[in-house]
Amino acid sequence: MRDIAERVAAGERVTEGDALAMLATPDINGLGAIADAVRARLHDRRAFYGCSVNLNYTNVCELRCPLCAFSCDEGDSGAYVLDMEEVARRVRHACDCGVDQVHIVGALNPALELDYYRQLVSTVKAVREDLYIVGFTATEYDYMSQISGASVDRLLTEFREAGVSALPGGGAEVFDAEVRQRIAPKKISGDQWLAVMRTAHRVGLRSNATLLYNHVETDAHVVDHLRRLRALQDETGGFQALVPLPYHGERTEVPARRRRPTGLDTVRLFATARIYLDNFPHIKALWMYLGWKTVQALMHFGVDDIGATYLNEKIVHAAGASTPDSGSEEALRGMIQQAGFTPVRTNAGYEKASE
Ligand code: SF4
Repeated sequence: MRDIAERVAAGERVTEGDALAMLATPDINGLGAIADAVRARLHDRRAFYGCSVNLNYTNVCELRCPLCAFSCDEGDSGAYVLDMEEVARRVRHACDCGVDQVHIVGALNPALELDYYRQLVSTVKAVREDLYIVGFTATEYDYMSQISGASVDRLLTEFREAGVSALPGGGAEVFDAEVRQRIAPKKISGDQWLAVMRTAHRVGLRSNATLLYNHVETDAHVVDHLRRLRALQDETGGFQALVPLPYHGERTEVPARRRRPTGLDTVRLFATARIYLDNFPHIKALWMYLGWKTVQALMHFGVDDIGATYLNEKIVHAAGASTPDSGSEEALRGMIQQAGFTPVRTNAGYEKASE
């Protein structure tokens, strides 16, 4: 790691070979020191979180990806589509709980027309105009284009004008075609995902990018994924954060490589991403996916954002509810402080950041 450390300190960009070496290194402390120095150069002691509600508007999906435990078929018990009354009710409740960001992501439901997606955005905005909307993955924009005949470019422009401010990073999975064939064969290809993001950035939308790990991928696939993201970021500058997501294989058709990835694998992945993606401002570790203890450790290995409250009825602890308070803003701030950082509330665009 010493050679890589010297080159990073000199402002040099690391190579794919370096990334492979970092993903396999036994020198966790050496790797962590490099990642932490990169993080500190960008953010000092500041660590970010948000107050957000998730609107998963439907779980009926025509793709039924083998990796997915969320989707179902029309008519299955548990299949749902949120109507606008319910959307408004949830958003109003979220606002009462102090949320300022709405994260809209759902499945590809053939019963829904483009108008439904438009109504989702207008309903949220009608509740409160200044809500920051993180709306629809690249996969969903591609699907909307297919069902409506409108170009992705036009749709992204329309939704930006309607109030969507950023795109979540979902659907990226792992770009490699063979991996995708095994985990999500009907989903848009890695190239298509990147093309939607390129267009989104061009029309003025920011976005995140995810990386799903702990399934059938190898280190080489991870590095290829990071390489393609870094290249697009060089071109557009529109990505805000990389969000690596650990895959859990329960109730899916693809077994997880490990029931849980080992702590050191996770550390290597996040630290490598921080060092390799020198043009990404943020590396985000979602506490909901990884658990608080892991995320606190990762903050010393390159992570500067821990995700959001996600509401889920939990943020109401600020208002005195007695159910577990693991998702409250207070709990998130405490977690960051305990790890030795200064909590900064922000949104997916990292605007209006406040300590
Ligand atoms: S497209 Fe998304 S919601 Fe649909 S099956 Fe695949 S991962 Fe699940």
